Amino acid sequence: MQGLITAAAIVGGVGLIIGILLGLAAKVFEVEVDERELIVRDLLPGNNCGGCGYPGCDGLAKAIAAGEAPVSGCPVASAEIHAKIGEVMGTEAIESERNVAFVKCNGTCDKTNVKYHYTGTPDCKKISTVPGNGEKTCIYGCMGYGSCVRACAFDAIHVVNGIAVVDKEKCVACGKCITACPNDLIEFVPVSSTCKVQCNSKDKGKDVNAACSVGCIGCMMCVKVCESDAVTVTNNLAHIDYSKCTHCGKCAEKCPRKIITIA
Ligand code: SF4
Ligand code: SF4
Repeated sequence: MQGLITAAAIVGGVGLIIGILLGLAAKVFEVEVDERELIVRDLLPGNNCGGCGYPGCDGLAKAIAAGEAPVSGCPVASAEIHAKIGEVMGTEAIESERNVAFVKCNGTCDKTNVKYHYTGTPDCKKISTVPGNGEKTCIYGCMGYGSCVRACAFDAIHVVNGIAVVDKEKCVACGKCITACPNDLIEFVPVSSTCKVQCNSKDKGKDVNAACSVGCIGCMMCVKVCESDAVTVTNNLAHIDYSKCTHCGKCAEKCPRKIITIA
């Protein structure tokens, strides 16, 4: 009986010591979590799309709570959510203009020629490593195999008549399509931008003509007609400075190839 009591006392004593040590360890190694970080995390949509530039919603919540990211840093969250996050942080949410993805190619199947018929795996990155860069004669444009479509978690981009087209309403500017496109022909533009150059070809006019009926030939007509100095031509390709563009549409009217869209 005496032995049993001793054993129970030893086990109890050891348990008590371990409990005290664990309690102390918890105190010593305790990681303080900013309560605001948890509230902000709950307010964020949880898509973990990375469109904010942080590793998922947890990363953005941490950055907002630390004052390192703006309260309107989530491109997916609504203005209402931004305002709520602002309340938590005691800061007003300053909304900047929403960006959307834009595909710089208008080379639909009827406007480009084909070099061969590809029957392998429909993956743009894979095909970009094959000589010729896809079936179309233009090596700069959209191959149309839809790697961007598969990358988009918001059903905002689809291949229509051989080229990728973005649905402005659905795009949350997460940038996944930009990363997925091996031809670097998707960029962000302000949602209100109307005049956009829908081409990515750096070839000279003669070669562009041979490859596609709507490619930019670098003729400078758009540059000459723009009164806001918003259009430039570099590497035979027109570019629009959206901060200078007044949406007058004169460049689109003048473009002989109708490659500048006004939508
Ligand atoms: S935009 Fe790029 S990724 Fe998308 S279908 Fe065209 S080539 Fe492929
Ligand atoms: S279209 Fe591109 S940027 Fe827009 S939501 Fe889809 S993947 Fe993201």
